[in-house]
Amino acid sequence: MSSSPVLVWFRRDLRLSDHAGLSAACGGHRPVIPVFIHDASVESLGAAPKWRLGLGLAQLSETLAQKGSRLILRKGEALDVLKALVQETGAGAVYWSRLYDPQAVKRDIEVKSALRDAGLEAKSFGGHLMFEPWTVETKTGGFYKVYTPFWKSVRNQDVPEPRPEPSRIPAPDTWPASDELAAWALGAAMRRGADVVRPFVRLGEGAAQSRLGAFIAHKVADYDSARDLPAVDGTSGLSENLALGEISPHQCWHAGARALEEGKAGAETFLKELVWREFAYHLMHHTPRILDGNWKEDWDAFAWNSDASAPKVVAWTRGRTGIQFVDAAMREMYVTGRMHNRGRMIVASYLTKHLLTHWKIGQKWFEDCLIDWDPASNAMGWQWSAGSGPDATPYFRVFNPVTQLDKFDPKRTYVSRWIAEGRKRPHDDALAYFDAIPKSWDMAPDDRYPDPIVPADEGRKVALNAYENKGF
Ligand code: FAD
Repeated sequence: MSSSPVLVWFRRDLRLSDHAGLSAACGGHRPVIPVFIHDASVESLGAAPKWRLGLGLAQLSETLAQKGSRLILRKGEALDVLKALVQETGAGAVYWSRLYDPQAVKRDIEVKSALRDAGLEAKSFGGHLMFEPWTVETKTGGFYKVYTPFWKSVRNQDVPEPRPEPSRIPAPDTWPASDELAAWALGAAMRRGADVVRPFVRLGEGAAQSRLGAFIAHKVADYDSARDLPAVDGTSGLSENLALGEISPHQCWHAGARALEEGKAGAETFLKELVWREFAYHLMHHTPRILDGNWKEDWDAFAWNSDASAPKVVAWTRGRTGIQFVDAAMREMYVTGRMHNRGRMIVASYLTKHLLTHWKIGQKWFEDCLIDWDPASNAMGWQWSAGSGPDATPYFRVFNPVTQLDKFDPKRTYVSRWIAEGRKRPHDDALAYFDAIPKSWDMAPDDRYPDPIVPADEGRKVALNAYENKGF
């Protein structure tokens, strides 16, 4: 049996438990060398996700160190880095967890074939998803374009029980050199007040497990109704950890399934939401164009505003539309790095329907601001909201952000938490927004709150008019 080391290449799987590649590497009695590579896919991340990745890597390094292991950091093209490490360490194998966005897929195919050509063992493992996108098929052998039949086809499939973390991670006699994480400056572009966002982050595998445990114990039973109320902390908050693989979907699924068996009715909706994430990946795998083009191609003819510097679009990004639900949600994202799902739907609808602005502008802004940014869920969420995606809201469903507020925030608890202007004693979180934003935005808590740039019902008419002209 070979005693040459195994390189475990970490990417969006920053955990030790339920990690198939790490378990396989540790089970072989060979030294294991955990590696993270700063390549073009890291370079191109938006400000907040890149910063959050840096925090996640620091945490993973610490967790590995507690097990007598290390995270080796290297910068460069993935294949070049891996080849160099193989040369330096005498490694005979490279293991990693699969990713599904087209760039990662292309890179990984090339890496796998080059390593195999060089006589190495190169192996990819599942774990980022419960259902590999190519294994879920319609009766006629196609892929799913609508969520509900997708859910029905996977709901009774076996999801493997999560693996425990390896009891031991065998270390090599000598470690290869590593870059300093600080030298990568992953937080450099985080103009948006890292110190303000930091207290809202739940970092690492331990925190993710506690979050899941607390959610199952105290919230999942009422999740079905509470999840829609932005003022209530009624959801799991796990998207941040799922995005970087600090927890696996399998771990979430099994915890939810046990809760359902115990009679906690809301758990079924939680399982359904986990499957929305799977559905987003299913779509990205089968139709990668969902990331950068209208999924329904007849939308290419629609005359979107595509100017991100248009004053109304700038007002949207800065939470100054004069529509309280929209502004509160945009500020929540700036301060916490996350946004309630209801808020995401409302701001996306307002941008694409009231302001008739291209969904790609919103998709990009979210990509820069969200610590739970996920390529598949973000693209699907935007195209669903805009109407151009699969399983989209019908074009005539234009959320009215005022009536939505009456329905989902009747006491205005959410908007008063996030909007300072016009209040005698603004909430601390509303004030924190002004600490986070760039000075150049020239906004202050005692400014006059703006009148709506496009009033709630007027926007609906404008949108419906535009759709009619397009021939819908
Ligand atoms: P919970 O309600 O506790 O749900 C549990 C998990 O299910 C989530 O962590 C998430 O992984 C998954 N999930 C829930 N709702 C959805 C959904 N609609 N689509 C896909 N997966 C879902 N989610 C992201 O993780 N990253 C994004 O970048 C992202 N961008 C979005 C953009 C728009 C315009 C919209 C409308 C939605 C977006 N979502 C995104 C989906 C959703 O808003 C978040 O997953 C959810 O708010 C995360 O909060 P939570 O972890 O408390 O979710």
